Amino acid sequence: MQIAFIGLGNMGGPMAINLHKAGHSVRAFDLSQPACDKVAEAGVAVAATAHAAVQGAEVVVTMLPASQHVEGLFLGAGQLLAQLPKGTLVIDSSTIAAATSSKVAEAAQAQGVDFIDAPVSGGTGGAIAGTLTFMVGAEAAALERARPLLEKMGSNIFHAGSVGAGQTAKICNNMLLGILMAGTSEAIALGVANGLDPKVLSEIMRRSSGGNWALEKYNPFPGVQENVPSSKGYAGGFGTDLMLKDLGLAQENAMAVKAATPLGGLARNLYASHSLAGHGALDFSSIIASVQKKG
Ligand code: NAD
Repeated sequence: MQIAFIGLGNMGGPMAINLHKAGHSVRAFDLSQPACDKVAEAGVAVAATAHAAVQGAEVVVTMLPASQHVEGLFLGAGQLLAQLPKGTLVIDSSTIAAATSSKVAEAAQAQGVDFIDAPVSGGTGGAIAGTLTFMVGAEAAALERARPLLEKMGSNIFHAGSVGAGQTAKICNNMLLGILMAGTSEAIALGVANGLDPKVLSEIMRRSSGGNWALEKYNPFPGVQENVPSSKGYAGGFGTDLMLKDLGLAQENAMAVKAATPLGGLARNLYASHSLAGHGALDFSSIIASVQKKG
């Protein structure tokens, strides 16, 4: 099957490589040359433009930073959506506003293109291993078209509801993730300020009632776990500014439905201050720096 893959960053790159390894003919594109070079090294064909990437593709997968990138790509000046023949399936795995997914899906439907939202969880480790969790917003038939491809990139595929529902599930999850990474950082920093070994404390909490995903797989304290961003200078991973975007989406959504999200609001402000302090491009687990003693 011919697939166009647009957005080859920390997540999209490994996802495109997994589709290629599964035997699909993938033509990839990113605005960043280094991102293109990385997938080309793994044998993926790279196109010079998004328009060239979608030529002859039955399925288009997008993994872009935020709402404006997805809307801009499909409905903006380049009008990529208008280039897609009837019957094309678009799988958008970016985390964006549910309202944007619905807007693009509506325009797609008007020209006979299926557009589904399929945001993911599992981090860059999950993207590389092909074990992502997909949260899909789609009509059942469109999800069934996408399923064989999603299975090449992930191990859990959930049908959250109709278009936009995947995005709503994703921001609920990421609001919780932002809160628990900040809380985990605070607890470790408190222990360390009292002279505890961060490795020993992390293991105690991991196996106790404070255990959570950050302690299991993504410890924010440098050197506690190998191969996580905190042990690599907070490079790669899930950027602070992307977490800030997701917490902002959660707050917008909460306002729209009059939900109370006090911790989500506080977490958004914590990551906003962290970004303003110059850490927006670092992995979000670097939030621990905001509660650590300097020097
Ligand atoms: P990233 O910043 O590493 O990659 C995004 C890529 O999109 C960049 O390479 C950029 O050049 C490219 N891009 C932007 N506009 C483009 C355009 N118009 N055409 C082609 N390429 C374009 O981001 P990421 O970490 O890969 O995240 C992508 C999405 O996945 C985000 O919505 C993020 O919130 C979500 N997400 C990330 C993680 C993670 O752990 N990194 C986990 C789950 C979900």
